[in-house]
Amino acid sequence: MKYKSTRNRELRVSAAQAIMQGLSEDGGLFVPEVFPEIEMEDIECLAQKPYTERAIEILSLFLTDFSDEQLVSCVENAYTEKKFGSDSIIRVEELREGVNMLELWHGPTCAFKDMALQLLPHLLTTSAEILGNKKEIVILVATSGDTGKAALAGFQNVPGTRIAVFYPEDGVSPMQKRQMTTQEGENVSVCAIKGNFDDAQSAVKQIFTDQALREKMNANEKMFSSANSINWGRLVPQIVYYIAAYAQLIADHVIQPGDAVNICVPTGNFGNILAAYYAKKMGVPVNRFICASNQNHVLTDFIRTGTYDKNRVFHATISPSMDILISSNLERLLFDLYEEDDASVRALYDALARDGKFTVSEGVKKKLQTLFWGDYCDDDATQATIRTVFEEEAYLCDTHTAVGIYAAERYQEETQDDTQMLIASTANPYKFAASVLGAVYDDVPKDEYMQIEMLSRLSGLPVPEGLAELKDKPVRFTRSIEKDAIENEVISILGLA
Ligand SMILES: *Cc1c(COP(=O)(O)O)cnc(C)c1O
Repeated sequence: MKYKSTRNRELRVSAAQAIMQGLSEDGGLFVPEVFPEIEMEDIECLAQKPYTERAIEILSLFLTDFSDEQLVSCVENAYTEKKFGSDSIIRVEELREGVNMLELWHGPTCAFKDMALQLLPHLLTTSAEILGNKKEIVILVATSGDTGKAALAGFQNVPGTRIAVFYPEDGVSPMQKRQMTTQEGENVSVCAIKGNFDDAQSAVKQIFTDQALREKMNANEKMFSSANSINWGRLVPQIVYYIAAYAQLIADHVIQPGDAVNICVPTGNFGNILAAYYAKKMGVPVNRFICASNQNHVLTDFIRTGTYDKNRVFHATISPSMDILISSNLERLLFDLYEEDDASVRALYDALARDGKFTVSEGVKKKLQTLFWGDYCDDDATQATIRTVFEEEAYLCDTHTAVGIYAAERYQEETQDDTQMLIASTANPYKFAASVLGAVYDDVPKDEYMQIEMLSRLSGLPVPEGLAELKDKPVRFTRSIEKDAIENEVISILGLA
């Protein structure tokens, strides 16, 4: 299996190369040359197997240059009972009849990002081994909060790697900030920027395509790679859990093999929902994808109008991991909907760079609307959803997941489509304690740990160790820089000045 670029369909690189490089040199994203298909009988068989075996089987279809031993070792080191609380790794819970929650946040940093970022360091170091690469791998991360911590946890003290994380100073929750600034490890650095996620992401993308800097890195036996969802190694583990969840619904007798489901995903960078779309391409019968956004609803508007327009006010919301106006992975979907016409994709992204917007063709818009349905809600509706779901179903969800539940409900109301719904539950509610507690209780104490304690008393959910232990950890990183100083910061961290 080879990979091509969304901006150059003639390019062919191996999985190991795609993972090592992160972004293609032409600025495009790597995609598989074909999507392997998986038969319904095979999905049924997966239902009988533990998560690690489901993962190995599916990953082996994409990572064909990895040996069986290498894949087994990657997966078994990533998805352990110790790190994920049980060997099921994911959980599928019925919220109410016809609506199922796919809980993806049982990993060490309490967000779904762990599903990919516990595996990625293993995929990356194995890729380096396959390619005979001896250079130090420098991971640059732009984060809206959750990717940063999950990547730090995944790469902490991994030999041959360094990681530098940039987060928006005023754009993450207090708990997210504490998780990152207390990070241990010899190879990690964390820095705040005066700007938003898009600023951080653009700066990092620019560094990746800077030819002079690349040569300097080369001369110093270093290379950049990415842990953001532009990296194929981030997306492929996410395809696994959608197939695994479908298998789980069969095992739980919620659906019969072959039944269609709808999948609703609270979306920011379009990575998680794209992985669901790829699962459909492989054979999971999905009727409709519901793309849920917060007040930054650039994707809702895109799905409804066919015009993607990032020229708008940026809102800092209580679902900060979705505060994004440039959804990188949409490029992969467009490449697919344009039937791999790379010239069209290049034209769209040239327009985005030039005018901050683009409009897709009528044909692509029609395909988009057949597959996807978009909706969004503001912070008040997010909190109202948390409260209603807690009161009516005794289910405590985080702010991002609440946006998903809201959109799924709106979809069902408007379309009367009663196909079984699978909603991606993307974070542990304790990670956004102030907003979640504020939704279900009037008197929110200032201290984060008191908030968590109160939530625990109200809900009976145990406090995850990864959050409880932060209280006693010293803050290691306090640096804050201007958004246009990111490249210099990287140069100084790496001692290349
Ligand atoms: C990252 C994140 C999202 C958005 O996921 P994308 O893959 O960027 O669309 C949603 N919820 C939470 C909790 C997240 O951390």
